[in-house]
This record gives sequence, structure tokens and C-alpha cells, in this order.
Amino acid sequence: MKNRVLTGDRPTGPMHLGHYVGSLENRVKLQREYDCFFIIADYQFLTDHLKETERTEYYINQVLLDWLSVGLSPEKSTFFIQSMIPEIAELTMYFSMLVTVARLQRNPTVKEEFKSTGLRAMSYGFLGYPVSQAADILIVRPNMVPVGDDNLPHVEQTREIARAFNGTFGEVFPVPEAIIGRVARLPGLDGRKMGTSTGNAIFLNDAPEEVKQKVNMAVTDPGRIRNTDKGHPDICNVYKYHLAFNKAEASNIERSCRHGRIGCVACKEKITQRVNAFLEPIREKRAFFEARPSIIREAIKEGNVRARKESRETINLVRKAMNFDYENLLKGEKIAA
Ligand code: SF4
Repeated sequence: MKNRVLTGDRPTGPMHLGHYVGSLENRVKLQREYDCFFIIADYQFLTDHLKETERTEYYINQVLLDWLSVGLSPEKSTFFIQSMIPEIAELTMYFSMLVTVARLQRNPTVKEEFKSTGLRAMSYGFLGYPVSQAADILIVRPNMVPVGDDNLPHVEQTREIARAFNGTFGEVFPVPEAIIGRVARLPGLDGRKMGTSTGNAIFLNDAPEEVKQKVNMAVTDPGRIRNTDKGHPDICNVYKYHLAFNKAEASNIERSCRHGRIGCVACKEKITQRVNAFLEPIREKRAFFEARPSIIREAIKEGNVRARKESRETINLVRKAMNFDYENLLKGEKIAA
């Protein structure tokens, strides 16, 4: 049997270059070798977008277009939607008994993400979403979870839950390993974490002119005033994009910057060209799939059916392990005390 992988995305809008280098690129490789499940986590969209549910379907479609455009294939992998697999909600309920409130409150990603939402109070669903995420992952019993480095605490929480369940009820779940993408985290153009709604991201569906405008606004080494000033690429956001998308020239650029032999305008022009060259085939594929919605429909319909089948098998094992299958009761047999 092939090793199994699960990962996915919240449908909060179009995906960006940070998603690509942190996870999508890795997934394209993984699907060649492994049995991959890709989830669209729409319950988790609710944690901080509760008043925008009219946008959910549009965002889900955008995520699917992004996946297909970068080369994820429904012929090799299983695409599915979290809320369409009721077994995930059931597993979340069981798992919620294995995690303390204090443990959830200590999760650094929960704290950081809550701060970035601007919400005044944390809902029970927000605090508990790592438990829901553990259920998303473990419902298909994978061995590996490709994630960005900011999601490592969630994978750790999932591993703890898998161990806690196995220790309490018997071995049902593998303890999955996290896999990090080639660039642990690509910052936004302003140096903060790249985000869908923070205005600092280059999206996979951005037009060439949009990419140019965004790169022009990027924050570089603030100490450089003239082209001949010696620069510090290590504190420049644009240089991080060279490392990710212009590897062949990156060391040259680093030297030229340090010796004041390249200006920031020319440096930005170079990376704009590289990023646009990288995005061009993605844009073409996106246009192809946008014109063929039946491909998306079939991908998600078939994926949901397969994910549901695997999830039922997991829930049957879970219920049996927990003595929640009520076998004797349903067979009408005598039930011992
Ligand atoms: S020359 Fe390039 S690497 Fe150096 S500070 Fe300017 S944009 Fe950054």
C-alpha cells in the first residue's frame, strides 16, 4: 500500500506565492508517489469569516482552480470538502474529550491567528479548531502532513491526539509526520506574514501588471538611499523572492547588492520578470479550467465519495475501539453489566 498524505486549505480567497512555496509545490511532487488527500476546510473558514458565508462557494471554487492550475490532479489525488464528510464532525467530538482547554490556549498558532483576526473575543469553535484539524487529518489515517512552518504546532497537536486516542482505546491511528516545503516561510512584500487579506501578497491569479505594481511597492533594505549604497540583502524582502524564484541569479544579486553595484529598481524589475515567467503557465492552466467547470464538478464529487468511504472505515474502527458500536444491543443479544 502507498503511504498516505493529507493536507489542505481554508477557502478564504485566492492562494498566493507563500502557499505555493510553503505547500502547493510540495504537494505536486508528493502526489506522484503517495496516496494524497486534499481537503478544503470550510468549517475552519467559519472561525473568522462567520458573516461572509455567502462567499464560501466562490472561495472554494477559487481554491480548486488554484490547485488545478499548479498541477494538483484529481486523477492522482482525492479532493474533498470538509463539511461534506459528516464523519469528520463526529471524530472532532470524540477528540475534543482528549484535549484540555489549557493545552489549546497554549497553542502559539491559535494565539497568533486570533490576534490577526481583530476579533474581540475568541469563540469556542476558534479555540477548538486544532481539534477539528486533527479530525480532518486523522479521518483518512495518513502517515504524512505537508504544512507551512506556522502550522507545525497544529500537526504536533494532531500527533498528541493520535497518541492519546491510541493509548486510551487501542491502536487506530498512525502518528503522522509533518513535512515542510522548500522555503519554510515566504514573507509578504512588506515583511509581515503573507496573508490573503493583508494586502502584502502576490496571488497565483494576479495579472502581470499587478505583479509589477506590487513588487514596486515592496519594502527593501531601508538603509539604501542611492544605487551605490552598500545594501543588506538579508533584511530585504525582495531578495527573499530572488531566493525562492530566481535561484540561479540570487548569489550574484546578493554580491552586487552588498557592493552597491545594483539598484533596487533594477533588482525589482528582475524579480518581476521571474515571478511573471513562473506564473504564466499557471495563468494559462487556470483559464483552461475556468472554461471547463465540469472538470471541477467531477473532481469534487468523486473526491467526496472516496473521502467518505475512507472516513466511514475510520469511524467504524473508532467506534469499535471505544465500545460505541453497540453490537449486542443492535443484534438483540443479552448485554452483560
Ligand atoms: S538591490 Fe535588491 S536585494 Fe539589494 S536592497 Fe535593493 S531590492 Fe534588496
